[in-house]
Amino acid sequence: MSVRPILIWPDARLSQRCEPVGPEVLDELIADMFDTMYGAQGRGLAAPQIGVMKRLFVMDCTWKEGARSPMVMINPTIMAAERLPVPAEEGCLSIPGVLLSVERPKAVTVQWTAAEGDIHMADFDGFEARCIQHEFDHLNGTVTFDHLSGAERAKAEAEFLETRQ
Ligand code: ZN
Repeated sequence: MSVRPILIWPDARLSQRCEPVGPEVLDELIADMFDTMYGAQGRGLAAPQIGVMKRLFVMDCTWKEGARSPMVMINPTIMAAERLPVPAEEGCLSIPGVLLSVERPKAVTVQWTAAEGDIHMADFDGFEARCIQHEFDHLNGTVTFDHLSGAERAKAEAEFLETRQ
């Protein structure tokens, strides 16, 4: 197990759509993704954030409150979402130091394959639903900046780039 480097926006790989995961052994990758996520003080990490262009992510929405609840979602699909989006601030390990308000459905129904290979379907809401949608975005090459538009987006991107100089 090891911590892998996290790609920082605007790395081109963060804007690419990932390929479905096939029948392959992911144990080492998943262990590394958790090490990398916990090491970076994050609550979610998608494979493309470490340069692996495959459709899976890890998350743990409760570990910072003292109780670990690690979860792996492979080839996830959002089957249904509540119609009315709600705004909330989101950070991203690939855009360190930036919190952006993003509107998302408050609740989603997700189908995914677990690390053991079995298929699950469940409803999520609140912070978990937001985290899943944020990580799911990464699998499609979407980051929080992509939820902004026009001048607001240009300003947020320019401010972030300034902090990286
Ligand atoms: Zn992110």
